[in-house]
Amino acid sequence: MPVRAYIGLGSNLDAPAEQLRSALQALDQIAGTRLVATSALYTSDSLLPGQPRYTNAVAALDTDLAPLALLDALQGIENDQGRVRKERWGPRTLDLDVLLFGDQLIDVPRLKVPHYHLHARPFVLYPLAELVPDDFHLADGRSLAQLLQDCPFVGLERL
Ligand code: ATP
Ligand code: MG
Ligand code: MG
Repeated sequence: MPVRAYIGLGSNLDAPAEQLRSALQALDQIAGTRLVATSALYTSDSLLPGQPRYTNAVAALDTDLAPLALLDALQGIENDQGRVRKERWGPRTLDLDVLLFGDQLIDVPRLKVPHYHLHARPFVLYPLAELVPDDFHLADGRSLAQLLQDCPFVGLERL
């Protein structure tokens, strides 16, 4: 049985909206993986000063891959789209983060799921909220409604 995974996409270099559109196509091409749904695109100022504005979205995938194999595929797409890793949280052509992988809790050095800042980043939470079922909740019991209430829609523009 495939697992429903949610991927956070972000870009603030080299035509971000185009980067996200290419990435969504690439996600659908991953072996054993199907793109099920995509959120709207959202823009927001960078959390760090001096960087261009970010464009973000979330994708829902159904995948037969194991979590680390999916991460390998995501990092391959980041590299294909010119991701250069310099300083942490530097500007980037493409960031693909595993937000959720079914209801699995994963804590190995390369992969922590749910993504540790999922609840704190409006540019992740609001697009994710478009795609998850109404009864969604985190392992600690927090409902989607509670998460949204604790993370106001501030500084975001929905395109
Ligand atoms: P942030 O994690 O705060 O969003 P970032 O996405 O810019 O920062 P990256 O440089 O893309 O960070 O990734 C740093 C490392 O995070 C990668 O080497 C990857 O193995 C690891 N990592 C841990 N958990 C995850 C996850 N859920 N999704 C993607 N990468 C993860
Ligand atoms: Mg990230
Ligand atoms: Mg990342």
